[in-house]
Amino acid sequence: MIKVCKFGGTSMADANAIRQVKKIIDADTARRYVIVSAPGKRFKDDIKITDMLYRCYNEVVEFGTCKKSFDIIRERFIQIVKDLNLSLDINSVLDKTEKEINESKCPDFAASRGEYLSAIIAADFLGFEFVDAAEMVRFDSHGKLNDDYTDDKVSNRLSKVEKAVIPGFYGKNFQGNIKTFSRGGSDITGSIVARGVKADLYENWTDVSGFLVCDPRIVPEAKVINQITYKEVRELSYMGASVLHAEAIAPVMKRRIPINIKNTFKPEDKGTMIVPNEQYQSDSNDSVITGIAGKKNFTVLLIEKSMMNAEVGFIRRVLSVVEHYNVCVEHLPSGIDTLSVIIESDQLKDGVLSDMVGEIRENVNPDYIHVIENISLIATVGHGMARRLGTAATLFTALANENINIRMIDQGSSELNIIIGVANTDYEKCIRAIYKAFVP
Ligand code: ASP
Repeated sequence: MIKVCKFGGTSMADANAIRQVKKIIDADTARRYVIVSAPGKRFKDDIKITDMLYRCYNEVVEFGTCKKSFDIIRERFIQIVKDLNLSLDINSVLDKTEKEINESKCPDFAASRGEYLSAIIAADFLGFEFVDAAEMVRFDSHGKLNDDYTDDKVSNRLSKVEKAVIPGFYGKNFQGNIKTFSRGGSDITGSIVARGVKADLYENWTDVSGFLVCDPRIVPEAKVINQITYKEVRELSYMGASVLHAEAIAPVMKRRIPINIKNTFKPEDKGTMIVPNEQYQSDSNDSVITGIAGKKNFTVLLIEKSMMNAEVGFIRRVLSVVEHYNVCVEHLPSGIDTLSVIIESDQLKDGVLSDMVGEIRENVNPDYIHVIENISLIATVGHGMARRLGTAATLFTALANENINIRMIDQGSSELNIIIGVANTDYEKCIRAIYKAFVP
């Protein structure tokens, strides 16, 4: 049995948290490969080490040296080593790291050093070998993960090591320079390692006891999701649920390795099990829906033209204008004579919206284009919805009862989710209404 464990920023934030990590690792000999984040926040207004490292990079650009910010980082790591009673010569490692950040003049290199230092300390404290992610994780010339190369390297390198700590968040690009994933990317490293060593389980340790049905800032009593499928997590993460990086599912999905989201500070809680469809074990208490997530600030371009459906290439011509402005489309619900193009409003700033609408008008000569701004998208996700009659009716009745006007509806053909668009001002009310309608 092999378990890969990833510990997030709060689990690495100070010596107390790291001691807790050691307890968890020591409790199960199957926990052989440990991926760590950089130390995160210790209290609400604290600054994450990764954010400090981006500051270091900015200081190097402006003043040629990162001494001011690096001194704060230095102090934090020295304190952790001291509190853990380690004999590790962290000062020399920090001196070398500061020098390298000054010389490399690369934001990714600077940012990656939080995980690097965190892993050196964790390896020493756990008595595990330190294995650098830079030896194994490789990106291609388009900046995408080079999957086959990385998988090979991970499985070869780690087959020689019984127990290892590996820094998350980074690898090397095709030119051999350090490159990071997007923020929160240590989750992806954990998933890559789990696949590479053919783990039985990928444990993702964080500071919450799993995925909640919805954002607890909106519904304080939101329940924990005990079990969820890979695809549902993809949908929820993409729509803003922030427990796990949206790209962390793909690597383990190939080998059907389940992920268990666990709470470092409440290890007795079961957390959330993320499983492939075929491993999902239905329970009679299952709610029809699994989760609700959403995002604010979208713009809808509602394009209407009679006989649109008979006009060959209509949608393509609209989309080619959108592409010309380098804008991504989120959803594209269509009717016989209407097409709605839904776009994140941030992409339409600085005159892009009016220029683009003008060009669409010229290109497809519609009857009219109506622009609706300040729209929120809310996804109600659940693999159980496909089997159950009346889910949509329950959803829409709940919203009607709350006087919420639905501006757009999009049900994916997988019947895994129903996405609705409502005014930003109705966002919270809408999530509360859906929760109340479905969760017993
Ligand atoms: N430390 C990085 C971040 O703050 C990566 C991670 O924690 O996963 O985004």
